Amino acid sequence: MTMLKEGRPTRPVAVAHEGRPTTTGNKALMLEEALIFEIGSHDTTGVDIAPAPEVKSRLGGLERRKALALPGLSEPETVRHYTRLSRQNYGIDLGFFPLGSCTMKHNPRLNEKVARMPGFADIHPLAPVATVQGALGVIHELAEWLKTLTGMAAVAMSPKAGAHGELCGLLAIRAALEARGDARSVVLVPESAHGTNPATAAFCGYAVEDIPATPEGRVDLAALEARLGPDVAAVMITNPNTCGLFERDLKKIADAVHGIGGFVYCDGANFNAIVGRVRPGDLGVDAMHINLHKTFSTPHGGGGPGSGPVVFSAALAPFAPLPFVEKTDDGYVLVEEETAGEHHAGSFGRMVAFHGQMGMFTRALTYIMSHGSDGLRQVSGDAVLNANYILRSLEGALDAPFAGSGPCMHEALFSDKGMAEGFTTLDIAKGLIDEGFHPMTVYFPLVVHGAMLVEPTETESKAALDQFITAFRSVAERAKVGDEALKGAPYFAPRRRLDETLAARKPVLVWTEPAAAVAEAAE
Ligand SMILES: *Cc1c(COP(=O)(O)O)cnc(C)c1O
Repeated sequence: MTMLKEGRPTRPVAVAHEGRPTTTGNKALMLEEALIFEIGSHDTTGVDIAPAPEVKSRLGGLERRKALALPGLSEPETVRHYTRLSRQNYGIDLGFFPLGSCTMKHNPRLNEKVARMPGFADIHPLAPVATVQGALGVIHELAEWLKTLTGMAAVAMSPKAGAHGELCGLLAIRAALEARGDARSVVLVPESAHGTNPATAAFCGYAVEDIPATPEGRVDLAALEARLGPDVAAVMITNPNTCGLFERDLKKIADAVHGIGGFVYCDGANFNAIVGRVRPGDLGVDAMHINLHKTFSTPHGGGGPGSGPVVFSAALAPFAPLPFVEKTDDGYVLVEEETAGEHHAGSFGRMVAFHGQMGMFTRALTYIMSHGSDGLRQVSGDAVLNANYILRSLEGALDAPFAGSGPCMHEALFSDKGMAEGFTTLDIAKGLIDEGFHPMTVYFPLVVHGAMLVEPTETESKAALDQFITAFRSVAERAKVGDEALKGAPYFAPRRRLDETLAARKPVLVWTEPAAAVAEAAE
């Protein structure tokens, strides 16, 4: 890194093959950005405030002895720093975002408008129930829609993401088993499951065992049935699964699991493929989380917010967490520990302090009501149609391991088979960045070598899909013929290819200057 005498530090970088580095590191109006610690220094400040008055410390000698080396910047410098960073970010509002399993669909602005209405946005979780009847009504109404769409008896609205919902589901299953004096030790998870499934089961104290997949990419029913026994608490199944296929045997699987006294947990992250068409309750599912941020469109990625309500079968409903909203003749009430009747005596407790993610409830309900039941049905139809268009358009250019299993659901899955020696899925992903696309999900699911999982969602036009297909095909061709230049991609991104091994082995988590200050302060 070179520092200019005046102004922002810069990092001149080599640009495209024939390009020259610029003096500033900027590429036209795409501005290079340094770390905030490199721009600001802790002896400058952006605001005029009087020094704090001397106070007698009550920390008994534990107080900080040196100033924290936080960067000081003026307001315009701060605004520009974050605005420049935001321009380097890629999001669904910029272009196609085919990240498989994540359902990066367009988030209608109507949702945002409703979520910002002061009556929803400015309320407090401890506000008296009589003053927030409208908000409780939203939670109740959304809960009713989720039960209807899934064909389930009850729903816990409070879990804050899909993985949190998995935890909620397994805690209810454990409570149900313990209530009948039948604590069990094993949870079965298919090989193709999202990493959160085995992690959740292990977190709940269960031993996790894999169920193999068939060559067609579905759960091996015979292997599953052979493993079922009195020690199995639950089977966690994703439907449609992460190979992009519908688990046609789910009802048979559920009957077999119920036959040995176990429960069926369904990972509902892929609900976008079947909403309005299939009710998981009809397939024998006992608990399933719904990622509101995926299927029902809240901006997500980059850390939140999420919301993962869990629907329950009648068998598990009594064990669902508190609190929940109930509609009575006198309006909406909150059923909490003190007010839970006999029927909820088995509740395993609370997932979170209050009711869940209000901003997401308003967005999801807005989305659901503006689509209506017919519109939701069209969502899943179009999502599946778009994925099949991609699958069939690229079948010749890339290996599609399950293309022979029939149409896919809302995701098209490809492998790295047929690429030139030394070329990998990573090269294709990096090449797509140069073409202006966020890459698809790579190396997941694990059951496919060099997996590339493409989820277009229903909100992309045919023109957008065609453009992606053209780019994807051209990058795949380069990997097939062994175009060495591809190994250097991306050339046009703000950063070139990172040394991922080095980053994982020797992560630089703290900028050296503050680190030195922290070390000094600790002396
Ligand atoms: C996204 C996802 C999860 C986890 O959901 P979060 O909301 O990110 O916690 C679990 N399983 C599958 C299949 C997913 O796609």
